Amino acid sequence: MESRVQREDFYTQRKIAAERIADANFEKAMENEQFEKLYRDLHLILPYEMAKAEVEGDIKKLELLADEKNRVETELDSILQKMQLTRLDLIPKTICQKCRDTGYTQDGKFCDCYRNG
Ligand SMILES: [Zn+2]
Repeated sequence: MESRVQREDFYTQRKIAAERIADANFEKAMENEQFEKLYRDLHLILPYEMAKAEVEGDIKKLELLADEKNRVETELDSILQKMQLTRLDLIPKTICQKCRDTGYTQDGKFCDCYRNG
């Protein structure tokens, strides 16, 4: 019988591995200057501008910013594509959707994905 500690360690290792891959992909993408700039726009500048426009009730500006966000996302995707990556490669992948790699299903039971992948 496998102990609880071994089980938990298995899922911890699985998470660390997924994070390592995502980090490596992200670092690779960030080496691209254009990607770095667009990524900053998307995650720092645009959310700030959008929040500001929302507070000001500036619907027109919000629409423009939403368009801009779409444009930036499309451009980011095309840069990533050239590196054989997608935006999903930049975040840790969840292997088991049933337990979300916690080892426990929603009803608190042990998930059957243990050591299956
Ligand atoms: Zn599972």
